[in-house]
Amino acid sequence: MKRIRVLVAGAAGRMGREVVRAVCGEEDMELVGAVDRVRVGEEAAGVAGLEAPSVSIVSSLSEGIAECKPEVVVDFTVPSVVKANVATCLRAKVACVVGATGLTPADLEEIAALCKEHSTPALVAPNFAIGAVLMMRFAAEAARHFDAAEIIELHHSGKVDAPSGTALRTARLMASAEGSKLAGASQDSRPARGLGEGAIRVHSVRLPGLVAHQEVIFGGMGQTLTIRHDSTSRESFMPGVLLAIRKVRSLRGLVVGLEGVM
Ligand code: NAD
Repeated sequence: MKRIRVLVAGAAGRMGREVVRAVCGEEDMELVGAVDRVRVGEEAAGVAGLEAPSVSIVSSLSEGIAECKPEVVVDFTVPSVVKANVATCLRAKVACVVGATGLTPADLEEIAALCKEHSTPALVAPNFAIGAVLMMRFAAEAARHFDAAEIIELHHSGKVDAPSGTALRTARLMASAEGSKLAGASQDSRPARGLGEGAIRVHSVRLPGLVAHQEVIFGGMGQTLTIRHDSTSRESFMPGVLLAIRKVRSLRGLVVGLEGVM
């Protein structure tokens, strides 16, 4: 069987290590490269807690791509570098699976243009957990029936961006759903009430002990509806990441959201 050649960017990070472990456990995938700015020169699998020999972590994505010739790059770096990394991959005509958050709608437009220019696909998903994708779908459905909603997203204290990419995407899906009652701008001018996305306020909690959690709370006359998803371990993201690695090369252009390959 021809295995998919995978390079992991951000391989020494919390998510990157989990992806290295997951890829090393799949028969149809081969970890051919690992990039990070820390733990350079160390074995990627060893950094991820595995004993099997693997590739060494290198510091430059462009050099890693040139040397390892991956077919798919999986990026779980940080919001400040993800856009440049995706551009590097697409210019080298390597398909990308992007998990790092922080890409703005304008960034996504630029990435879509690069995908077209270099005839290379990319999948950007702010959340690879299947349950989170369903939470977003159900929230978009409920937005057609309630005219008030707020989002509380709760993450570990090491998360650098706020609001989370998942919360922003949920709010955008809720606001843009057909027949949504939450499409307008917020009328609420009270201070310290969470960052806004259209009419939907997003509250960000950062505490040790949390992984990734989100509640979407709808309010109506005499009732509330709460839709909640919890990732209690980073393993929750791996079936989605592996699915994306398998499917990304058959996509056309940029696809946003795991639902694009489900
Ligand atoms: P982390 O800080 O543990 O890991 C990030 C890694 O990227 C670090 O090892 C860091 O050294 C490395 N890095 C930084 N700059 C780099 C560069 N220029 N080149 C290569 N590597 C570089 O963070 P994390 O918790 O693993 O999260 C990573 C990203 O994934 C965040 O944006 C987070 O929000 C996102 N995330 C997405 C999902 C999802 O399902 N899409 C799930 C969890 C986290």
